[in-house]
Amino acid sequence: MAELAPYAARAERSRGRRFAEAAPQGRNEFQRDRDRIVHSTAFRRLEYKTQVFVNHEGDLYRTRLTHSIEVAQIARSIARALAVNEDLAEAIALAHDLGHTPFGHAGQDALHACMRRSGGFEHNLQSLRVVDLLETRYAAFDGLNLTFETRQGILKHCSAANARKLGEVGERFLRKQQPSLEAQIANVADEVAYNNHDVDDGLRSGLLTLEQLGTVRAFVRHLDQVRALYPQLADRRLIHETIRRMINALVVDLVQTSRRNIRAARMKSLQDVQAAPALIRFSAEMAAEQRALKQFLRRDLYQHYRVARMANKARRIVTDLFGAFKADPKMLPPQHRASADSESIERAIADYIAGMTDRYAIGEHRRLFAVAEI
Ligand code: MG
Repeated sequence: MAELAPYAARAERSRGRRFAEAAPQGRNEFQRDRDRIVHSTAFRRLEYKTQVFVNHEGDLYRTRLTHSIEVAQIARSIARALAVNEDLAEAIALAHDLGHTPFGHAGQDALHACMRRSGGFEHNLQSLRVVDLLETRYAAFDGLNLTFETRQGILKHCSAANARKLGEVGERFLRKQQPSLEAQIANVADEVAYNNHDVDDGLRSGLLTLEQLGTVRAFVRHLDQVRALYPQLADRRLIHETIRRMINALVVDLVQTSRRNIRAARMKSLQDVQAAPALIRFSAEMAAEQRALKQFLRRDLYQHYRVARMANKARRIVTDLFGAFKADPKMLPPQHRASADSESIERAIADYIAGMTDRYAIGEHRRLFAVAEI
């Protein structure tokens, strides 16, 4: 790795792991975090979890696994360009969605509604819960025992009440401080990835058309450029050439603007970064373009009647499962009942449901409710 900037996070200066371990050999502490994340059960399950499109709708759409890999790729490019820690940005990016329920936001909203009187459900907190507690693979500890820096990066937002419960990893929310630049980068890379792949998947599914996107400047200025260069290009290639330019323009803008911000704020250390306002940002013009793209996606894709139908089914499945397990916790598989002793039965049910893939949740719903399947 090239020389790190003085404000980058450094593996050798990590605040460490909750359970002390011998130093890794042949890799640094953040690389070890990344490796543990990739080998986790929750990471493998991302392959069968979705964001907008339900997994069985087709093989061509992004899943949370391919999304997380795209986020990691974008985050690493940005981190490298800014001379901050690529390994840490990668580890945070790969872990950022581990706590997601099946069926994307519809699943999360339904589970949150079920948990309203039991502390709520928030996918971001759940990601931390997965790496701190729910993965049971190591002999000496529960969870993956990741470094403080990766855990802090995973926890993107958090209420003051939760921050107090979480201890040191929640401290920055009480002090109103920023996380590392690596965490800020993973966060913006997430947005870059999903805005662009949702356009791509939206077009591929036929829920969006090129005509509709003609009103979106973030898209159309690149589309016009590609059409001028390649007038005969067929739709799929035209779309890909447009989207790759969109991603590139965002990354270039982000790197330039953030570099300027870092210089202007005279950052000299990680402590300076934490005390400063968020430095990883788009230019005002690019930020406005992105807001317009998001608005478009919200109105024309996320609220599309076919997406609304999928979301309705997702809500029903999650709500039915939660209600059934709550009414009779004996139906929970034994290993999920066990965790009910430590916290509440509701939290044990939420952990079980959140860990399900889309197809597992559909199967479990069938096993519990289809009379013919006894
Ligand atoms: Mg994400």
